[in-house]
Amino acid sequence: MEEKAKKLEKKLAAEPLNFESFFSKKAMAMKASEVRELLKLVEAGDVISLAGGLPAPETFPVDIIKDITAEVLEKHADKALQYGTTKGFTPLRLALARWMEKRYEIPMSKVEIMTVAGSQQALDLIGRVFINPGDVIAVEGPTYLAAIQAFKYYDPEFVSIPMDDNGMIVDVLEEKLAELKREGKRLKVLYTVSTFQNPMGVTMSVDRRKRLVELADEYDFLIVEDGPYSELRYSGEPILPIKHFDDSGRVIYLGTFSKILAPGFRIGWVAAHPHLIRKMEIAKQSIDLCTNMLGQVIAWKYVEDGHLDRHIPEIVEFYKPRRDAMLEALEEYMPEGVRWTKPDGGMFIWVTLPEGIDTKLMMEKAVAKGVAYVPGEAFFTHREVKNAMRLNFTYVPEEKIREGVKRLAEVVEEELKRLKG
Ligand SMILES: *Cc1c(COP(=O)(O)O)cnc(C)c1O
Repeated sequence: MEEKAKKLEKKLAAEPLNFESFFSKKAMAMKASEVRELLKLVEAGDVISLAGGLPAPETFPVDIIKDITAEVLEKHADKALQYGTTKGFTPLRLALARWMEKRYEIPMSKVEIMTVAGSQQALDLIGRVFINPGDVIAVEGPTYLAAIQAFKYYDPEFVSIPMDDNGMIVDVLEEKLAELKREGKRLKVLYTVSTFQNPMGVTMSVDRRKRLVELADEYDFLIVEDGPYSELRYSGEPILPIKHFDDSGRVIYLGTFSKILAPGFRIGWVAAHPHLIRKMEIAKQSIDLCTNMLGQVIAWKYVEDGHLDRHIPEIVEFYKPRRDAMLEALEEYMPEGVRWTKPDGGMFIWVTLPEGIDTKLMMEKAVAKGVAYVPGEAFFTHREVKNAMRLNFTYVPEEKIREGVKRLAEVVEEELKRLKG
């Protein structure tokens, strides 16, 4: 093997093709995510990684999936192994519509559902269908990294709206909207992870949800509400999605099985006005014809037979102690001047260090001490914040969370000393 690899390397060096000349302009502009590069560091050695964004594999309902898969192949192989329609496997779409009506009080009559290859595909479809170069798109600051990447391909102008413990600060959005209007510009699409946000863990309050919909009506923009974490609640009262407050059909809701079943299925869904779904469906046709059918039929059984509703409390029970362990460890070990969010759910806590500490520069020292996180600046469209970081509490067991936070606190302490000295 090694021999072969060496030969190939030699050959490539001897006859260098000018690969660059083949790439499209769009491809030339693509860059690997710095964060992913940085996280390669982590794979080495005894590093406790609080950096990832993965669900815990212990929560995957393997036995249920085994049983359902056997049943599906026995009874529904004709559907499960065949091409399906682009809009998705209809029994699954109906089951999801009923589920959303029950859980979120979103009437089935108001939405059409299309299944997609994970919410990630929906984000790309939104880019394709709505974004012209230069269009103004609002996101939260900080926001979901993969959404920035998906939208960036379509060259929008990003507006970043700051966050606090109650989610996006809608008053600031309102000022921004007035400012855009004065400049003769229009906000087209606003993207929000409204509940247990990635990366901050915070949830937009009901008042802000209602106000946001009013502003969308007043200024005529679309809202994309990304809801992967809404079912992962460990404390506090459930809150209805923004989509629930939408009477005009301008909220596009994204759901996914990634955090409530398993991300390997790559199945998500879009619930939106039929007119918008129609366009997204046409856009999806040329990408993959249809979402993985075997996975869709399995997901349908999982919802239809009540496994989803039974499984969610099990996931919650599994993650809650991990969240608690991280909050306790932060309280115990972090020096004065460090602040963090206290999420009621989701997978992440956002930690803000005193001004002057650059978490990207600090990363190497943290990895040397045996702990990793994601530097906060990656989650901002304009990289405006340097002193924050995202910690994940779902992947690593409690003892490791405590040890990881302890190591991290030591690194922060040293940085603070260095700053003062
Ligand atoms: C994990 C996550 C998703 C899920 O993406 P899939 O493509 O469905 O796996 C979507 N949005 C956010 C903000 C996430 O953190």
